[in-house]
Amino acid sequence: MSLLPPDTTLDTLDWVTRQRWTALQRLGLLTLEDLVRHYPRRYEDRRKFDRFPDYASESSVCLFGVVKKTSYRRFGPRRIFELTLEDEEAGVLSSPLVCRWYNMPWVQKMIATENRLVVFGKPRLRSRQIVMEHPEFEVIEDDAEASMHFDRITPVHPAGDGVPVKVLREYIHRALDVTDLAAIPRLWPDPADTNPLPLDIWRSIHFPQSLEEAEIARVQLVRDVFFGVQLQLAYRRSRVKNSGGLARPGTGHLWKKVEDALPFDLTPSQQEVMAEISADMASPHRMNRLLQGDVGSGKTLVALRAMIQAHESGHQAVLMAPTQILAEQHYLNFRRILDPLGIPVTLRTAARQEGTPDADGTLPGLFSESAPQGPPLVVGTHAVLFEKTTFENLGLVVIDEQHKFGVLQRSRLIARADAPDVLVMTATPIPRTITQTLYGDLDVSILKAPPAGRGKILTALRDTSKLPDIIAFIRTETTAGRQAYIVYPLIEESEKLVAKAASAEYEKWRELLAPATVGLVHGRLDAESKDAVMRDFRSGRISVLVATTVIEVGVDVPNATIMLIEDAARFGLSQMHQLRGRIGRGAAKSYCILLHSGAADANLEKLQVLEKTSNGFDIAEADLLLRGPGDILGTEQTGMPALGLGDLLRDAEIMTEARRAAQDLLLRDPELLDPEHSHLRAYLAKNEPQQDSVSG
Ligand code: ADP
Ligand code: MG
Repeated sequence: MSLLPPDTTLDTLDWVTRQRWTALQRLGLLTLEDLVRHYPRRYEDRRKFDRFPDYASESSVCLFGVVKKTSYRRFGPRRIFELTLEDEEAGVLSSPLVCRWYNMPWVQKMIATENRLVVFGKPRLRSRQIVMEHPEFEVIEDDAEASMHFDRITPVHPAGDGVPVKVLREYIHRALDVTDLAAIPRLWPDPADTNPLPLDIWRSIHFPQSLEEAEIARVQLVRDVFFGVQLQLAYRRSRVKNSGGLARPGTGHLWKKVEDALPFDLTPSQQEVMAEISADMASPHRMNRLLQGDVGSGKTLVALRAMIQAHESGHQAVLMAPTQILAEQHYLNFRRILDPLGIPVTLRTAARQEGTPDADGTLPGLFSESAPQGPPLVVGTHAVLFEKTTFENLGLVVIDEQHKFGVLQRSRLIARADAPDVLVMTATPIPRTITQTLYGDLDVSILKAPPAGRGKILTALRDTSKLPDIIAFIRTETTAGRQAYIVYPLIEESEKLVAKAASAEYEKWRELLAPATVGLVHGRLDAESKDAVMRDFRSGRISVLVATTVIEVGVDVPNATIMLIEDAARFGLSQMHQLRGRIGRGAAKSYCILLHSGAADANLEKLQVLEKTSNGFDIAEADLLLRGPGDILGTEQTGMPALGLGDLLRDAEIMTEARRAAQDLLLRDPELLDPEHSHLRAYLAKNEPQQDSVSG
């Protein structure tokens, strides 16, 4: 029998029925290669089953037994199918297990007494009986094919409606037999190996003799996937670099004025990073750079330095912030520095155009784009970048707080016809492996140390019984002229509810803290009201701000020295670290109080990390361990590539290695013109992210 090419579609095979084909399509399985690459989600060692449990447990067990009794009954609106499973080998030495399914009539049709059954699930205690509810199950038949399903390490593949696990297993087994596996190329070019992935890898991942064998195969496959990811990133990086950039060396004369006027010296970290960025902009290659720096490390000034260099080079520069509040803050900040020097800056946000009165009720100066001073510096919100507003002669885009800005938006930005230099800034410390994966197409600059002379932030966990002391403390501090934040958790889906809760709490605090002035800010306020409150807080007219996490990023009020975080256990560590960065910005000592509801709080231990360290990267690593990558990056973060069987934590080293290998390869063959690399070109073409182009 001759082998079939991997791209053979499954509907052409006589062993795939029409109905199954429809179901397979729903699972995204169209070709033989899709089947071969449809990896098990776990394995069951069906040579040696777990013992029937006497206790309830949180970990799943895999059991094998014979169905002794079945029953079907109604209980109110519920239809319950129940069976008793007996461990044949242990006999009377073990008590039988009850399995129960609610409202799943089809299960009953699949199981009969005396069937041999494998079940997988968590044993629970229900009315003094050990019960499994809705276990995964498989009926074992004594036919010739039983060897594939039983008495071996058995793969359990992600199945779906119309293709049960068992059928899928048979299909994959068959696919391994009929597919020309040598035609599946390997991406990671390993000179010691032949081009295809080792052929036995496929059988090892699906039908291993041992779990060790499966793991060896998994690592091989992960290496290949990671290499693909990194190749794509490295390739995109080199494409952007060579996509119509301009040299924007600046003259240095305006920046000199700015620097001379600053009330402090730049930190060595700032100088180092500014030099990197400046050189990058001066080169004819296009800049595409990530600036990472913990909260309060002084990124804004680095951004300003870059913007002024663009300006000096005769180009417009724009700084984009994720929120109205931040955009306005940057704008006022810039004006304070730039106005005396006569350097124009304008504000563009969705709600307020330049010309709206600012903090002191004065109108900001208007500078048209043909003003003699040259093209202006612009501050705006992320949204503005994609509005019709055309920028003329745009030379630099700085994106503040990149983690609020999706990867896809970034690629739209890159696609702009005017090919501006791009600098993205993030305060979210990101574990290295994630940076490599998510931002692998960017060059990276890191602000290592914050400006000296900052007040210390003392962080302490307190349970709610300590509230009276805390209130007294806030009173004392505000009476002494300091300011405080009181923060409530915001769960995205119920923003409305949280806003309501925050409003109620606001009333409570107003009474508790009177005569201190208390303000309220949350995401549901309209932009005008939000602005007004923030302005009052910044100017000191409000001394306590009750807020949701809208204040998380960037807000800079040096006189604020207290932060009380309510219900702290509900926040992620990195998020609280961000929040905490709102205080400790002046020279005075600051206090961050994490309120929790007592020792019963399961997350107490995690909160202690914040008491112990103020290093954002350590906190991010702890968060990664506690919650996994998805949570750290937040829901806004799209664009994490599919990693197949890979795991960012477990396979971190492979990712680093893959990155190096991909970069080496592109150094040798930047356009992948070597015929030996044609499969890589095909891979890149297939995986290029879809993007709508944006006109400049
Ligand atoms: P972030 O990196 O979180 O965006 P900012 O740029 O807002 O931090 O800076 C935080 C504060 O530190 C601001 O008040 C800023 O004026 C101040 N700052 C920046 N650079 C220095 C410096 N070299 N020395 C002292 N203070 C600085
Ligand atoms: Mg900032």
